[in-house]
Amino acid sequence: MNKLLEIAQLGQPILRNSALRVDHIDQDTTKLIENMKYTVGKVNGVGLAAPQVFHSKRIFIIASKPSSRYPNAPLMKPEVVINPVIKKMSSQIIKDWEGCLSIPGIRGFVPRSESIEVEYMNISGDTISNIFEGFLARIFLHEYDHIEGIVFLDRVESSKDLITENEFQKMVLSK
Ligand SMILES: [Zn+2]
Repeated sequence: MNKLLEIAQLGQPILRNSALRVDHIDQDTTKLIENMKYTVGKVNGVGLAAPQVFHSKRIFIIASKPSSRYPNAPLMKPEVVINPVIKKMSSQIIKDWEGCLSIPGIRGFVPRSESIEVEYMNISGDTISNIFEGFLARIFLHEYDHIEGIVFLDRVESSKDLITENEFQKMVLSK
């Protein structure tokens, strides 16, 4: 049975720590990943990092799909990312809106690289090389920040680039 995991909210110290590398994908890790996948789907997230569910591990899920929180998100099969390394980041920077399950009610207009080249381990323990662009690169970088103890509020250029979820929804719906 999958379990809906509790999500750490801003102020919880685990969100500000650098997470630990995963040495073996043991049964506990597999179970954690299954529950993370289940949880991110249930709460309309597009990504979830292990520190957000109180586990200091370098693991995150990218699970982009259109939802009320992210109407324009591309649909993909959820990808499990373990011990990621960012090999290259494009110098082209794009600003777009982000939210975070750990920071409900706030959206930020966050600058990120348009494309990234990364390496990570998947749930089978295989090393994967991948290139992500656009919104998927944005999710990857947002989740990578979580395993480094960084949140999107740290990335905005100005506090004027922060708005409430209500205003964000009005803006999206008015388009
Ligand atoms: Zn987040």
